[in-house]
Amino acid sequence: MRIILLGPPGAGKGTQAKLLKDNFKLSHISTGDLLRKAVADNMTIGKTVKGYMDKGDLVPDSLVVELLKEKLASKDTNGGFILDGFPRNVSQAEILDKAFKEKNLNIDYVIYLKADEPVIIQRLSGRRVCSKCQANFHVTNMPPKKKGICDNCGSSLYQRTDDQEEAIRNRLKVYLKETASLIGYYLNQKKLVEMDANFEAPVVFDKLKNVLSNSTKISLPGAFKERA
Ligand SMILES: [Zn+2]
Repeated sequence: MRIILLGPPGAGKGTQAKLLKDNFKLSHISTGDLLRKAVADNMTIGKTVKGYMDKGDLVPDSLVVELLKEKLASKDTNGGFILDGFPRNVSQAEILDKAFKEKNLNIDYVIYLKADEPVIIQRLSGRRVCSKCQANFHVTNMPPKKKGICDNCGSSLYQRTDDQEEAIRNRLKVYLKETASLIGYYLNQKKLVEMDANFEAPVVFDKLKNVLSNSTKISLPGAFKERA
């Protein structure tokens, strides 16, 4: 099974990716990780990637796809994969489709985790990070034993600036604007599975598992019009 996972920040992509990976024995491909690994390995392509990153520029799509192709050629993606973090727009999706075609591969599902703004704000604005060991907590969903203090190392917890409410609204707006046409693109390809991600992670995953096991594709044309 080959899956592309889409969803705004706070929709629970990381958690669902992990559950999918464990339950369906899939490889989890995160383009962020691929880029970081390329740089760490210091191969030719990694040096080029680093050049862009050091200047604070976006790494060109062609390079990202090059790394993806390498990954797809490796044994660990043979049993299927979840692609997370890419594509983010239609032009990237087209490049990706071309790369898949060259390898005679097909994407089976594009899963879109859809959560409402108040839910996303509740999830992200409650997040607290340890200033020392980076452990994550949540003021209501996963509170530390002692308020404001890390369970693991006893250091103080803080809120990342991009987890503040205004910043979240902004991130969300950028995401929705960026991906609106991408959703349409996969809707047209009849690959889109839209999941209501307003529930707790295990509930969302149960539904997702059902959909994937039954191999029925749910698509809800028009579901995105309200966002446009
Ligand atoms: Zn800590």
